[in-house]
Parts: sequence; C-alpha cells; structure tokens
Amino acid sequence: MQEHLQNIVKPLLQWFETNKRDLPWRKDRHPYHIWISEIMLQQTRIEAVKKYYVNFMKELPDTESLSLVAEDKLLKLWEGLGYYSRAKNLKKAAELIMQEYGGRFPDSYEQLLKLPGVGEYTAGAIASICFNEKVTAIDGNVLRVISRVLGSRKNVLLPETKKEIDQKLQKILPEQSGMFNEALMELGEMVCLPGAAPECTRCPVQSDCIAHRDNLTAEIPVRIKKLKRKREEKTILVLMTENNRIAIEKRTEKGLLSGMYQLPNLNGFYSEEELKSILREWQLTSMKISFLKNAKHVFTHIDWHMKGYLVTVEQQCSQFLWVSPQELSEKYPLPTAFQTFIKNLSK
Ligand code: SF4
Repeated sequence: MQEHLQNIVKPLLQWFETNKRDLPWRKDRHPYHIWISEIMLQQTRIEAVKKYYVNFMKELPDTESLSLVAEDKLLKLWEGLGYYSRAKNLKKAAELIMQEYGGRFPDSYEQLLKLPGVGEYTAGAIASICFNEKVTAIDGNVLRVISRVLGSRKNVLLPETKKEIDQKLQKILPEQSGMFNEALMELGEMVCLPGAAPECTRCPVQSDCIAHRDNLTAEIPVRIKKLKRKREEKTILVLMTENNRIAIEKRTEKGLLSGMYQLPNLNGFYSEEELKSILREWQLTSMKISFLKNAKHVFTHIDWHMKGYLVTVEQQCSQFLWVSPQELSEKYPLPTAFQTFIKNLSK
C-alpha cells in the first residue's frame, strides 16, 4: 500500500510544475503572503479570496502594519469573507510576531503552531511551502485525493483517519515537501473534484488510483457528520430616517461575529404589531413599515432564519448609531447575514 502511494509523488510534482494556477500569493514564497492567503482560504473559495487578498496586501503589506491596524479597519477588509475570528487572530499573531520574534517570521512548524489561529494544516503549509520543512499539510482536498488513491472507505471526518493519512504521507514526502503539498491540494481543487465529478481522464495519478480503477469515486471519500445544527429565528430591522440614516450597533466583544456591527435585530419572529410596541420602547415613531425578503445565513453550527422589516422612522434615537449608506459601506464592518437586507433595499 505504501509503495503504491509512493508512485504518485513524481507524476504529481511534474503535473504541478506545468499546471499550477497563477495566483496572487504564488508570486513568491514569503511567509506573510502564504500565511494571509491560507487563512483567507479556510472555508472560502479561491476565486472569492483573490480580490480580498490583493486589497488586504495593499492596505497591510507586512506583519508590522497588520499588528498596528485598528480593529474596525481590519474587519472592514475582511467584510464578506465570514468567520471573522480569523481576522482577529491574524492581528493577535502579528502582534506576537512583533513582540516575541522582533518582527522575524517564525520559521518552524512547532513555532508556527503557537501562533493564534494557526492549526496543524496552516503551520504545515507555511513550514513546507516557505521553509521546505518536511511536514504535511492536510486539508479536505488532500483527504479526498489520498482516500481515493488508496481506495479507503474510512470516514475522513474522524481524527484517526486524518492521523493515518498523515502518517502515510510523511513516509513519502519528497525534498520539495512544499511543492508536493501544494500539488496535492491543487489536484483536489482542479481535478479530483468532490462528489461524482472527478476528472480522472486528465489526472496524473490515474494509473495508481484504486477508486478510479474500481469505479468508487462517487462513494469515496466517506464523510459521516455527527454535528447537529442549531436553528435560530431572527427579526432583522432596517431602521431608516427620511434623510437616509440607517441604524446600526456594535455586537458584543465575545461570541459569534464579535466586534462587527449589526442591524438592530430581535430573537424570534415578530409580527408588525409586536414590532410597533418594541419601537415605542426604543422611543421611535414609525411612519411606514414594510416587509423585506426573508433570508437564511449558514454559520458553522447555526443557521439563522431571518425575517426582515424596513421601518421608516420619524427621528433618530440614542440607542443606535445612525449612519449614511456610504459610511456603512466604507467604514463599518457589517457581516454578510445583515448585508443581505441592505442589498435587498435597492432591488
Ligand atoms: S484518478 Fe480520479 S479519483 Fe483518482 S485521484 Fe485522480 S481524479 Fe481523483
């Protein structure tokens, strides 16, 4: 089995040399660039990340500028990418690099693993790509490719399966460990696609792939989820004055979307009558109330089911911050879950 896996190294490296995509973070192997791109790519598609990455680098070109940036500005740069704790951890890690390492980027897997927000995968990616350390970097793409090559029906969502794949990969890691790790991920993203869609005819390791040989690509990898999702219902309010000031407020410093801004919202679904009495409590007089299109937002473990109202109010109240649409788009980081309702206004 191990020998069989060894066979994929050479063709995979050759394939990667000629087929790798030209991505903004592949222009060099600078650890700051690889780090930011890897964190952005967690849970986000490459196409979506490209423009965020370019913009981020324009504003925060190095560890020092990241360590000094104001949180609102950082979250604004991250707006729409989701999983905002990633951005906050980047800043914490940059501060630590400035303080503990005098600005020099940590250059070993063990040191990288100590940075906030850096797990085994990211540490492995930076250590191998930037410093050629012989460590693995195993993400969902790698788990899928290796499970298929091995014809393994083990549940890839279990830590023990990942550990087993890690051990097997460690034994075949070539000197160009970074390139090999990147090549595996690239193959997973470009050729060995999820579901029943891998493009085996153009795969460089086809002759060594058991899932392809035995027609098992639709069944492998096996992913059995244990996670139970939580459903939360919310009423989202776009409160707007006649001169177009929109009410927003800052979320708490802890928990989901902490530190971001939000539209006023209530737990549960509210009828128009119930809403009117809440508005009175807030000292707001509504001139007009209309429905906005319902929306759903999916977080890691929670689904928000949202019902929205557009409320034109007579005057502002002190409870909220009242901002113009331009200020909202340029200055205040608003999570995608709420952006949906602002976007629906212009439809
Ligand atoms: S042959 Fe097909 S299933 Fe096997 S690794 Fe290549 S793309 Fe994936």
